[in-house]
Amino acid sequence: MDTITNYKFKTTEDHAHKLDSENPLARFRQRFYNPEGTIYMDGNSLGLLSMDSESSVFRVLKEWKTLGIRGWLEARRPWFHFAEELGAMCAKLVGAEPEEVVATGTTTVNIHSLVNTFYKPNGKRKKILADELDFPSDIYALRSVIELKGLDPVENLILVPSEDGRFLDEKKIVELMDEEVAVVFLPSVLYRSGQLLNMQYLTEEAHKRGISIGFDCCHSVGVVEHYFDKWNVDFALWCGYKYLNGGPGGTAFLYLNKKHFGREPALAGWFGYVKDKQFDMSLSFEHSESAGGWQISSPAILSSAPIEGSLKIILEAGIEAIRRKSLKMTSYLMYLVDETLSEHPYNFTIGTPREAQRRGGHVAIEHKEAMRISEALRARGVIPDYRPPNIIRIAPVPLYNTYHEVWRVIQHLREIIDKKEHEKFPKERKMIS
Ligand SMILES: *Cc1c(COP(=O)(O)O)cnc(C)c1O
Repeated sequence: MDTITNYKFKTTEDHAHKLDSENPLARFRQRFYNPEGTIYMDGNSLGLLSMDSESSVFRVLKEWKTLGIRGWLEARRPWFHFAEELGAMCAKLVGAEPEEVVATGTTTVNIHSLVNTFYKPNGKRKKILADELDFPSDIYALRSVIELKGLDPVENLILVPSEDGRFLDEKKIVELMDEEVAVVFLPSVLYRSGQLLNMQYLTEEAHKRGISIGFDCCHSVGVVEHYFDKWNVDFALWCGYKYLNGGPGGTAFLYLNKKHFGREPALAGWFGYVKDKQFDMSLSFEHSESAGGWQISSPAILSSAPIEGSLKIILEAGIEAIRRKSLKMTSYLMYLVDETLSEHPYNFTIGTPREAQRRGGHVAIEHKEAMRISEALRARGVIPDYRPPNIIRIAPVPLYNTYHEVWRVIQHLREIIDKKEHEKFPKERKMIS
């Protein structure tokens, strides 16, 4: 990793072109639809559509058109096994065995399903440990998990505090793993600052104390390498629409370590049934001994189809190469901010860890006018996202963004400040930012 932080960058446009000419993943860009006239830097919120995803959707539509219900067994990838097959593909990205991953549900539903499976308050062990920088939906879900057990979330949901509102100190997290904690549930990458937590260390420490641990990997799968089996993580889940480019609201994934296959799924449903007996239609539930046992309903085939195409691309490119380029792009972005935008009148700062092993795929650029600057960027055709109070998130995605685009984003930022362009925008936030 050290070589990555030691790149010798330059601030010139020529250098951006040089970086692009040396980029081993360059050929993948043309397999994506880049919205015309834009520099898309928001792949950490919604990844772009690829031609591969488009053709898997068209194939499924055609199968529905021509096969009707027979598609469940006769489609090229039979719909009956589609969730498990996509799980097996995605397992390669996260260091898991094929039967430990399934494409199912949505992120928040999978939090309910898995945390409820592991959260069995007993005696003194009644608490869930999460963190105060977590994505809100995760916290809402954890509170309701606790309430469903008849317990008080105010007492039983412990949020690890952050000293600076940006980062979490893993040692602090471990200090809070006491004999009252039943489950630890944390994000892999903090959605604002982009800090990547040390999942291996946290898992080891949780297990030393007899605590189960799971991770929300929405902001890391598809751009960071994971080794769930090696790290011995108990469970994990992630969405399909960020770095996995699976389409808006598309099917999510869950990982269940095989040592837990014998547990009862907390939210049972007929698609979790042992596959070859599901259509016996027995009223007693016998769940599949695989992550597939944690499915609830019929798989959303049309919302899963795009993921097939996009996983194909990611596996072809290789997650190691994707991570390498991602780190190089984010290093380059931070370098350009430091060199050209850190001083008066620009005053941009970086709110993302500098060390390669401590950051995910995006960079948080901080500025007190972040909201209006984000609007000005959009007006110029650059798509970032804004996270209150002061963060412009920029995600250069290795499969489809270029170094030259990163360079241009920096020029746009400079020009916006030079011309005070952001001051023309209202101070109220839009519905979706
Ligand atoms: C994107 C994201 C979600 C989104 O949840 P959905 O149920 O897919 O809407 C939840 N948690 C985290 C950490 C995320 O990054």
